[in-house]
Amino acid sequence: MLNWLVRAIHAPDKSRLEQGFRWLYSFVKPQQKAIAGLLLLSFVGSALVLLQPWLTKLLIDDGLLAKDYGMLVKLAVAMILVGIFGTALSGLNRYLHTRLSGRILFALRTDLYAHLQRLSPTFFGQRRIGDLMSRIDGDVAEIQRFAVDSLFSAVSSIIGLIGALALLVTLSWKLSLLVLILIPLEVLWLRWMRRKVEVNTRELRERSADLSSFLVETMPAMKFIQSSGQENRERTRLGGLNDGYLSQLLRLQITEFFTQAIPNTLTSMTRAAAFLVGGWWVIQGQWQLGSLIAFSTYLGMATGPVNSLLGLYVAIQRMSVSLNRVSELRQAEAEIESPQSPRALPQPLRGELELEQVCFAYTGRDPVLDNVSARLQAGKKIALAGASGAGKSTLIDLLQRHYDPLQGRVLLDGVDIRELSLSDLRRTVAVVSQEITLFRGSLADNLRYACPEASDEQVRGAAREAQLDELIERLPQGLDTPLGERGQQLSGGQKQRIAIARALLQQPAVLVLDEATSAVDEATEQQVIAAVDRLFADRTRILISHRPSTLAGADLRLLLQNGHLSEIEEVVDVG
Ligand code: ADP
Repeated sequence: MLNWLVRAIHAPDKSRLEQGFRWLYSFVKPQQKAIAGLLLLSFVGSALVLLQPWLTKLLIDDGLLAKDYGMLVKLAVAMILVGIFGTALSGLNRYLHTRLSGRILFALRTDLYAHLQRLSPTFFGQRRIGDLMSRIDGDVAEIQRFAVDSLFSAVSSIIGLIGALALLVTLSWKLSLLVLILIPLEVLWLRWMRRKVEVNTRELRERSADLSSFLVETMPAMKFIQSSGQENRERTRLGGLNDGYLSQLLRLQITEFFTQAIPNTLTSMTRAAAFLVGGWWVIQGQWQLGSLIAFSTYLGMATGPVNSLLGLYVAIQRMSVSLNRVSELRQAEAEIESPQSPRALPQPLRGELELEQVCFAYTGRDPVLDNVSARLQAGKKIALAGASGAGKSTLIDLLQRHYDPLQGRVLLDGVDIRELSLSDLRRTVAVVSQEITLFRGSLADNLRYACPEASDEQVRGAAREAQLDELIERLPQGLDTPLGERGQQLSGGQKQRIAIARALLQQPAVLVLDEATSAVDEATEQQVIAAVDRLFADRTRILISHRPSTLAGADLRLLLQNGHLSEIEEVVDVG
C-alpha cells in the first residue's frame, strides 16, 4: 500500500516521502477503532444516499404511474424516515470526524514540536522562523486533512461507486457501458496533470512561508523600522510578497481548474448520451420513465465518486508536498542528545568545571577554541575576558552542551558532561545572558519558569533577595501582575534582577553571567554583581564582561584570545 502510494506520487525525494508516510501512519494507527467506527457510519450513510433514488423510482413507477395511492403514502413515509435518519447520522458522523481529525492533527503537531525542541541552535540559526512556523502550522494541517478526510472520502466514494454501479447495471447493463469508457479517459488525463499540480503546490507553500517569515521578522522589529523611517519599504515588501503569493495561487487554481474541468465535461457528455439513448427507449415504450430518472441520478452518483477518487489522486500530490516539507524537519538530526543511561550527578555537587584540551569550530568556519584547557575551581569567582567575537559565548554554550567540543572534554566535578542527562546538566549550570527571555504571564510565572514547582514563599523569597521588592510594590497586582509581551515595560536592570531571582530559585552549582550586565549602567551593575556575590557566595561564578571593574574582584582571571585561553593578572579593557 505504502509502496503503491509512493510510486503514484511525483516527488523529488521518494525515500524522504516514504519515511514521511511511515511517520504519518504511526499517528493514524492508534486511532484504528475510531476509524473503524466512522467507516461503519459512512457505510450506512452511503447506503441511505443510494436508497433515495430507488424510492423515487418506486414512487413514480409503482405509485404514480400505477395510480396506487396507498403505495404512494407508504413510499412518502419511507422517504421521510430515511431523510431524518440520514440527517441524524451525518451530524454524528461530522462530530466524530472532527474529533478524530483534531486528535491526529494535534498529535502530529506535538510530535513535530517535540522534535524541534531537541535541535541545537545551529539548526535554528540556519532556518527562517517563519518557514518553520508555516511547516508546523499549514503543512501539518494539510497532511492531517489528507490523512483523515481523504481516507473517508475514498471509502465512501468506493462504497458509493460500487453501489451505484450495481444499481446502474440492474437498471440497464447496456447503458452502463458508457461509464466504462469514461473512467480510463479521466485517469489518463489526471496522470498527465499530476506533475503540474505538484510543482505549483510546492511553489505556493514556499510563497506562504515567505509571507510568514516576513511577518515574524518585522513585527518584533517595528520600533526599529519606525526609527529608521522604513515603513514604506516594508509595506512595499509585503505588497511584493502578497503579489507573489496571489499569482502563485491563481496559477494553481488554473491548473486545478483544468485538472477538474476535463473530467467534468466528460461526465456531462456521458449523462447527455445516457438521456439520448434512454430517452429514446422510454419514447419507444421499451423502458419506464422512473428507471430513466433513477439511472440518470445513479450515473451522477457513480461519476461523483469517480471524480472524487481521481481528485484524491491530485490531493495526494498536494499533500505529498507538505509531507516532504514536514519530513525534512522531522528528519533533521538532533546533534546533542542526553545519553541513553546517564550518570547521576556527583554527590555532593561542588560545581568544579574543567576544560580539557577543548577544540571547537562552527561548521565551515575557523576554529573558535583551539586546545583550550582550564580548571574553574568550585566556589570561585572567575572572570572571563576577551574581545567581542573571541568565543566567550561559544565557550559558555559548550558548558551547557548546546554544542559539543570537536575534540577534548568538559568535566563537571570530574565527570564528562556528555555522560550526564541534559536536564541535570542545565539545571546545574545556569546562564544569565544580556538578552533575558520573558514570556507572557505574571511576574511570578516568569520567575518560576525553570522551577515550576517552587512555592509562592520561595518565589517571594527569591524576589526579595534579588531586590525586586521595589518593582513588585509599584506593580498593580504585585507578583501576579501580567507582564506584557517580552516584558517591554521593564528596565534593563529590572530584567537582570528577574534573571537573578530565577537563578536563585534554580539553585545552580555554577552560575554564568554572560555580559548579563553590559546593558545597565555601572552603578546598577555593581549592585547586581554584589547581589550575586552575596547570594551565590559558595557557588562557582563565571563572569563575562567588557568592564574591567566587573572583573576586578575575581579569584581567577582568564583571557580568551585567538582561540587560546590564558590566565592574566590584571584585566585591561579589551572591549
Ligand atoms: P563572544 O561571545 O566572545 O563575542 P562568540 O562566541 O559569540 O564570541 O562568537 C565567536 C565567533 O564565532 C565569532 O566569530 C562569531 O561570528 C562566530 N559564531 C558565533 N555563533 C555562530 C554560529 N551559530 N555559527 C557560526 N559562527 C558563529
